[in-house]
Amino acid sequence: MYSNFLDNLARIDSHELYNWLIDKRLIHDNQLCIHCNFITKLNLSKRTSDGITWKYKNSKCNKYEITLSIRTNSWLGNFNISIKSIIKAINLWAKGRTFAQIKQDVKISAPVFLRL
Ligand SMILES: [Zn+2]
Repeated sequence: MYSNFLDNLARIDSHELYNWLIDKRLIHDNQLCIHCNFITKLNLSKRTSDGITWKYKNSKCNKYEITLSIRTNSWLGNFNISIKSIIKAINLWAKGRTFAQIKQDVKISAPVFLRL
């Protein structure tokens, strides 16, 4: 399942990617609103590169309907390339590929790669 997931990353949709990230504890599974303590709900969104966000859903709170990146409070929030690119680069690196080889498959700059 694990290597299959990584090998088929290009075909994985936002929701499957989200579940995998939760499963691997790379992101949190929700966020608490600091004003009302309600937890955020998942929200599919084509407006973000991740394709999915969290949304505040307490209609009595002034944060209502505001969206939040799924990268919030995660190390993934330090990068603005796609999560799939990050995972792919790390996976190739773990297989022993050099940066020059990885760059052929993943759009990633040297400074970003060095921060992974
Ligand atoms: Zn709130």
